[in-house]
Amino acid sequence: MGTSVAFSTPAATGKEQHHQFQQLVFHTMQEDNDRLSCFLAESDISRLNAAAGSDTPTVIDRETHELLTLALKIAAESGGAFDPTVAPLMHLWGFRSSTRTADYPTPEALAAALDRVGWQHLTLSPATAAPPCSAALQLTGMGLDLGAIAKGYTVDRACEALLAAGATDFLVNLAGNMRSHGRPAPKRAAWRIAIRDPLHDDHWLGAITLAANEGIATSGNYEQYVVIDGVRHTHIIDPRSGMPVTGLISLTVVASSATEADALSTALFVLGVDGRHELLAHHPGCGAIYLTDATPPRLLVTAALHQRFTPAPAWQTALTLIE
Ligand code: AMP
Ligand code: MG
Repeated sequence: MGTSVAFSTPAATGKEQHHQFQQLVFHTMQEDNDRLSCFLAESDISRLNAAAGSDTPTVIDRETHELLTLALKIAAESGGAFDPTVAPLMHLWGFRSSTRTADYPTPEALAAALDRVGWQHLTLSPATAAPPCSAALQLTGMGLDLGAIAKGYTVDRACEALLAAGATDFLVNLAGNMRSHGRPAPKRAAWRIAIRDPLHDDHWLGAITLAANEGIATSGNYEQYVVIDGVRHTHIIDPRSGMPVTGLISLTVVASSATEADALSTALFVLGVDGRHELLAHHPGCGAIYLTDATPPRLLVTAALHQRFTPAPAWQTALTLIE
């Protein structure tokens, strides 16, 4: 997945035990990477993409099927703001080239890419069907891109493996997609997560207290982008218009799992502050922290996190509590 993972346990866990758990995390994530990577020709996702438009469904692992089911659920709930078939648009905007520079796409190229994007054209074998699981992309030139959900998913799978192995207190962090269990130290009640201030290196926007067994994820416009005519364009694309999303610098989501937090952070980023209500209504316990790109930036925190978010002193005046 092109990134690194951090795994934390309380000191009392002991070095040997920690090492064992850490190997389990790594092993689980390696398995998921082998299933989901676009860079491995034999992965489920590469084989699905290569077969796009053919009449024969592609056989995939149960776990891949489970993840695609979750992705389609968020796609439907978000009215297509989240779309796992966004790959043609990522290529169009130059995110899959090695140079990371691009030109603005022509209207014709944009229309052609949009024609090949659409979660309704991803079909899965029924959950109740006898194994093996399968999936199909119905249109030639379609492609899956699970960059907005796969990291959260593999964090959840690692947590399940850890729990099954008897681990009770830990934090798994894959590039800002995290899930916590138990507590960080005997005298500390809960894991507290500091959220990076994207505008000032080595500073924080604030800190959030996670409940036991919660996921958290951040989507941002500041780490992955292409520059066209001197303007930065973020790697989060609105699948309805085909355009890179503007309006937010970062968005952190806390949810009941890392998968949900990951997918929702991308979906809510696309929907923007005003478009959040319907999707959040599907996820009652889920909360969001927005940093807008207004001048000066505004820090907006939704109801589920009002009691659990503490802004850094520098951000106190920018903070607004919203529904
Ligand atoms: P994240 O950092 O979790 O917000 O995910 C961003 C990544 O998700 C991008 O690099 C793309 O791989 C993919 N992506 C971009 N736009 C969308 C979208 N609207 N829906 C789903 N995935 C997307
Ligand atoms: Mg995401």
